[in-house]
Amino acid sequence: MNPVVLSIAFAVAILASLLVKFWLATRQMRHVAAHRGAVPAAFAGTVPLDAHQKAADYTLAKLRFGIVNDAFGSAVLIAWTLLGGLGALNDALLGWVAPHWGAMAYQLLLVGAFVLIGALIELPFDLYSTFRLEQRFGFNKTTVALFFSDLVKSLLLGVAIGGPLLALVLWIMQAAGGLWWLWAWGALTAFQLLAMVVYPTLIAPLFNKFEPLADDALIARVQSLMQRCGFRAKGFFVMDGSRRSAHANAYFTGFGAGKRVVFFDTLLKRLNGDEVEAVLAHELGHFAHRHIVKRMVLTLAFSLAGFALLGWLASQWGFYAGLGVTPNAVFSDNALALLLFMMALPPFLFFVSPLFASLSRRDEYEADAYARSNANATDLVRALLKLYEDNAATLTPDPVYVRFYYSHPPASSRIAALGLSHVSLAGAAA
Ligand SMILES: [Zn+2]
Repeated sequence: MNPVVLSIAFAVAILASLLVKFWLATRQMRHVAAHRGAVPAAFAGTVPLDAHQKAADYTLAKLRFGIVNDAFGSAVLIAWTLLGGLGALNDALLGWVAPHWGAMAYQLLLVGAFVLIGALIELPFDLYSTFRLEQRFGFNKTTVALFFSDLVKSLLLGVAIGGPLLALVLWIMQAAGGLWWLWAWGALTAFQLLAMVVYPTLIAPLFNKFEPLADDALIARVQSLMQRCGFRAKGFFVMDGSRRSAHANAYFTGFGAGKRVVFFDTLLKRLNGDEVEAVLAHELGHFAHRHIVKRMVLTLAFSLAGFALLGWLASQWGFYAGLGVTPNAVFSDNALALLLFMMALPPFLFFVSPLFASLSRRDEYEADAYARSNANATDLVRALLKLYEDNAATLTPDPVYVRFYYSHPPASSRIAALGLSHVSLAGAAA
């Protein structure tokens, strides 16, 4: 691989993706601002003007923040790679650590130092987003103390889980020969499946409290819905999502027909029984259509292709040189290869993201249709509108922006696909 060609391709991908992001953000800002003055006709009578305007202001504030964050992120990326930041960090650790503690310790410390520096650089943005932006619109419920205790917990968890996993991958890269990437992919896949099994019972409780749902009427109602749909409930829990954020949600976890149902306390406070049932019917639709399994298979196929690519790149001198790093003469380059790959990929992958977004939107329409057959479509729409309002999601997004980014179709498209008009909606709300 020719390093100069790689440097140029990488720089062009960063610049092009940044320009496309700016263009899309500008379109979205213009569209939302132009529709800020009045509630769209389809929602007149169901969505109050002040909620509509709050959604517009929140959307605009997030877009402005996103532009600054994206520009800064691209500058950091260039500093790490083409300007030689990772090379300098590597030289320092290579001199201090490698001769005394060996190749594995040096590689683990290199990745650890990279992650830590990256987190520190991002910290002001996270703080601003949580305590300025989210705060201003009344969404932030976390405190500075809770924010930093979450951060420390995440870091410790990252060291405790990510450290051994990284060591395993680095060992496979060293020991497994030319097909190491296949073995490494297999190991990571096994780990991901394990994580999905233990996450709800072991990891999630570290961050939130889960209490059994006490509302018997709601339990009976959700149980009967699940029976109708051919699922068994393994347990109903309420999660204290309100501790950190006012955004509302509900989800299922578990394999096979038995499901743990988790409600955010914020969701139960906001929706009535009919609406909760409709939202859960939508979530069950994702399971009934096997969206989760399909998504996983697609992700695994993509990651296999990624590992095969990395397997080839890691052996190319030009891959390191083209991204601003001099390969090590004596010690292993594997940790360098992993870091460079993780940095180099996103600017190229950005241009594939609309494909994934469109697959996701198709799944949402299917889940909505499932909810219509197993619960009540009007309840679903009323629940959706409440959630859109609570999350201050705009009802008037730019169509091109939607096509590029939106994992969920905009409210107006979902209502139209459910076969409802604003007339039947206003009637139901009354
Ligand atoms: Zn969905």
